[in-house]
Amino acid sequence: MRSIWRTLRRTVATLPGNPFGMIKLKSRREIDLMRESAELVSRALAEVGSRVEPGVTPTELDAVAETFIRDHGAEPAFKGHRAGGGGDAFPATLCTSVNDAVVHGIPDEEPLREGDLLSVDCGVLLNKYIGDSAYTFAVGEISEETRRLCRVTYEAMHEGIEQAVGGQTTGDVGAAVERHCAGYGIVEALCGHGVGRELWEEPQVPNRGTPGDGAPLRGGLVICIEPMINRGGADVTTDDDGWTVRTADGSTSAHYEHMVAVRSEASSDEGGKPEILSTFEPIEQALSAPPPYRVAGEPAAA
Ligand code: MG
Repeated sequence: MRSIWRTLRRTVATLPGNPFGMIKLKSRREIDLMRESAELVSRALAEVGSRVEPGVTPTELDAVAETFIRDHGAEPAFKGHRAGGGGDAFPATLCTSVNDAVVHGIPDEEPLREGDLLSVDCGVLLNKYIGDSAYTFAVGEISEETRRLCRVTYEAMHEGIEQAVGGQTTGDVGAAVERHCAGYGIVEALCGHGVGRELWEEPQVPNRGTPGDGAPLRGGLVICIEPMINRGGADVTTDDDGWTVRTADGSTSAHYEHMVAVRSEASSDEGGKPEILSTFEPIEQALSAPPPYRVAGEPAAA
């Protein structure tokens, strides 16, 4: 009996709409709720961004974000989260990853310094749905080289997003990111993901790939596309805290993340364009300087 149930489950999981499937497609109403969650993250990141300057500590930024999120009727989604169900619970609202830290940095009391690169990942739970987005900030003036790293990472995210339409696959997303990052280290140990009521849902969305490989993308799927790109090699290590991921060679790393709803193929009313649920607009407005992905004299491609 149990094996018949398993077979049935597995068969149904491959059908469009898959009610038992690991890949959970969202209704229009759910996507609208997820946009509200994503926009709250964007506004929390703007609050953080307006305070990023030399001398500020990641712990202070974390407190700003937590207060803002709770004041808006939501909960921090990362706080208490356990990777893969095991290990230590993440202790903070934000992941703050400075310079050679790639992702999942735990906010600490170390003041930010002029020229640092600070990646901030933020998640909320609002009306039972997750919002999840990340932005890399410049602390004061950053080098031209670091600015280029930010630009490549930001543009690679948008290259990946362009592939997030019905009929494409997660491999198409990964291949598009990979193509844009030649000469940089593309972190493979971590990747983007489906998102919904849970922070990490299926499918995984890799930042490298072969066109046509991986999970098929269908209208109603909501995914986070989040390249993590290193100035040097692709290898990473994890600190003793069990969370902080760093580049193995100590090179600087950048990370941008948008939450994207996949629409049906081009035959649909929306013309198959991906629907980006998070927005960097409030963040860019909050910054006192041009975004780190704008390189002087070179307009960004995306
Ligand atoms: Mg994410």
